[in-house]
Amino acid sequence: MELIPAKNILSGYAENSGWFGCNYNMNIYRGCSHGCIYCDSRSACYQIEDFGRVRAKADAHAIIEKNLRAKRKKGIIGTGAMSDPYNPMEAEYALTRGALKLIDQYRFGIVPLTKSALITRDIDLYAKIAAHSPVSVMMTVTTSDDALAARVEPGASPPSARFATLKAFSDAGLHTGIAMMPILPFLEDNRENLRDIVDQASKAGVRFIAPGFGMTIREGQREYFYAALDREFPGLKQRYIDRYGLDYSCAVPEAAELRRWFETLCREAGIYTRMPDIVASINKGYATQQMSFV
Ligand code: SF4
Repeated sequence: MELIPAKNILSGYAENSGWFGCNYNMNIYRGCSHGCIYCDSRSACYQIEDFGRVRAKADAHAIIEKNLRAKRKKGIIGTGAMSDPYNPMEAEYALTRGALKLIDQYRFGIVPLTKSALITRDIDLYAKIAAHSPVSVMMTVTTSDDALAARVEPGASPPSARFATLKAFSDAGLHTGIAMMPILPFLEDNRENLRDIVDQASKAGVRFIAPGFGMTIREGQREYFYAALDREFPGLKQRYIDRYGLDYSCAVPEAAELRRWFETLCREAGIYTRMPDIVASINKGYATQQMSFV
């Protein structure tokens, strides 16, 4: 695997983050081989060449340790925003696993976001961290249909494996959630799909589903997405062009009504959907420790 130089791996500090309660962000890898056709990280603004090729940051563990030691405040680290921390390389190189050991040692919290069942390997470390700091194991699910997922997220674990993974973590007493975003217009925005996601999530003991009723499309990513639509769903690209033109934010048709219906469904199943409730549930029991000075 190619290594790339990095000065820092842990970035940012948000005192009261509304994004799953995360105070810091961590990306050990650059690029992702899961091949999701809608991936925003391919956008030209990020300037990641050959995005499908996974590279790792050199001396990752030494840099993470240096970054953790330098932080004045404990907090929750989010990982999985620009690359999947459980891409196939992780099975061999265990860089995310090594980072978890440091996160445990320095007593930070962690909210990973992945589409890979490989995360189950690290259930022991997530349990160790949860003993002192907030943890929520989060997987992205945009469809419950394995066959459809194989076309829109071809390198990721099938949704059935993701739900089984979430159940394994929930059964181990860990907080789990779903990022249900994006929901692709005309492909995944039907009530049958959304209802099935809620059913499966409920069976997996998931505490929240953060929904996004639509997607974003911009330069660089648009070309890749449209080429994939032409290949996998002939004729659909024109529907996108007709409805959204060059819009960045592309909400599914009747998004507001769908959201109301979906939130009712989740409420009945005891699953949170609103970010303040999600953040509160992740932090429950940990508030004092999270904000304490080192
Ligand atoms: S798993 Fe995430 S980072 Fe990787 S291709 Fe899919 S959307 Fe992009």
